[in-house]
Amino acid sequence: MGKPRVLVVGTGFAGYHCLRTLERVLPPDAAELVAVNPTDYMLYVPLLPEVAGGSLDPRRVAVPLRPKLPRTRLVQAHATGLDLAARTCTVVDVEGREQVLEWDRLVLTAGSVTRLLSIPGVAEHAFGFKSVAEAVFLRDHVLRQVELAEQATDPAERAARATFVVVGAGYTGTELVAQGQQLTRSALRGRTGLSESEIKWVLVDMAPRVLPGLDERLSGPAAKVLRARGVDVRLETSVKEVTEHCARLTDGSEIPTRTLVWCVGVQPDPLVEAVALTTAKGRVVVDPTLAVPTHPHVFAAGDVAAVPDVFNDGKPTPMTAQHAQRQGKLAGRNVAASLGHGDVSTYRHRDLGFVVDLAGSQAVANPLHVPLTGLPAKAVARGYHLLAMPGNRLRVAVDWLTDLLARRQVVQFGLVPEAGVRLGDVEKAAARHG
Ligand SMILES: Cc1cc2nc3c(=O)[nH]c(=O)nc-3n(C[C@H](O)[C@H](O)[C@H](O)COP(=O)(O)OP(=O)(O)OC[C@H]3O[C@@H](n4cnc5c(N)ncnc54)[C@H](O)[C@@H]3O)c2cc1C
Repeated sequence: MGKPRVLVVGTGFAGYHCLRTLERVLPPDAAELVAVNPTDYMLYVPLLPEVAGGSLDPRRVAVPLRPKLPRTRLVQAHATGLDLAARTCTVVDVEGREQVLEWDRLVLTAGSVTRLLSIPGVAEHAFGFKSVAEAVFLRDHVLRQVELAEQATDPAERAARATFVVVGAGYTGTELVAQGQQLTRSALRGRTGLSESEIKWVLVDMAPRVLPGLDERLSGPAAKVLRARGVDVRLETSVKEVTEHCARLTDGSEIPTRTLVWCVGVQPDPLVEAVALTTAKGRVVVDPTLAVPTHPHVFAAGDVAAVPDVFNDGKPTPMTAQHAQRQGKLAGRNVAASLGHGDVSTYRHRDLGFVVDLAGSQAVANPLHVPLTGLPAKAVARGYHLLAMPGNRLRVAVDWLTDLLARRQVVQFGLVPEAGVRLGDVEKAAARHG
């Protein structure tokens, strides 16, 4: 009999911390650790808006897996199917080759994908914002629109190219609009053919306040910062239709634009749809030990799992990195316990607050539920990310310092083709793989 195999699907916050814990807790001969993930890095998603804004090099948010997980065999692939009875997982690697992996313990940590609502034109014309490719594409695209706006002789085209719409005022959309606005400001330096007043950033949300899911005391200051910078914040408004050159809103207004970014929320990875497991709003239902009640050898954690929150009447924990990281660690400990190493425990985590970086010297934060704004919030936000990142800390800190001391480098590389980052294409790729 060989060693039991633990298979972890997805090495984001939950999967990465699960594997780190397993490597630490399990003796070397206790189990074979295998991870399936399409990339060879753990993506530190919360800093993606800074990549789009050009203050961080894209490599900074990609923490290499190999040096961090020396005992884990990484299979660079997408999991495409699971057979819970046979205890197998079908994967397709980056060159399209299929293989079947067996497992004794399965940990599902495949995260989430952008949520598409059935609004005409969104799939065809909106951009998503969840991957390095999307962030790099967006930075280039915004800079290209500034360039083309300056060159345009038709005033309508000039205005449309200089207008950028972000839909969704959660932490993703709010941070993205803040970073984007700073990027276009940098792009205008030394330019005489386009003025700051011609550039428009619009943030749209159905909710009555920005950062609707967070502490109300963060919303007012965040909206104030954005509005002071000229961002057009439109609340209690949604998108009715998107065309190639225009966004139509539910308040009857039309915004001519070539850029609409969809940050309306996320839903669990499509992989879980293919598995016969009980779900709640698409998330795999688990017990407080993170095990699937009907399949005790299957665990799930992070965005993909509906983990009961003991501090919130057993409702599923929100989809945040804070929960995913802690659930990943607990999944690792409980998988080890199921193999006879250590004791089983249940998930208990009280929300520690949130940080929202608004670019420049601005941020809002509520560490331990104490609301902060301005420089104190900025210091907390940066300190938090440096502590929470599993690697690349020095490089991130150096990028931040450089951004403080030198002018932002405003260049386009055009390396990411537009075809792959329209939301409909991203969704098709996810469905193909997942
Ligand atoms: C732009 C942005 C900013 C955010 N900012 C914050 C923030 O400031 N604070 C916060 O708490 N949260 C933030 N979040 C949310 C946070 O990033 C997520 O809650 C967190 O990443 C969830 O962790 P996870 O491990 O469940 O999934 P992920 O971190 O998404 O990891 C999932 C992993 O699974 C892989 N995967 C997916 N499908 C498959 C498959 N079929 N086979 C194999 N591998 C697969 C993915 O490639 C990925 O590596 C942000 C999210 C976004 C998009």
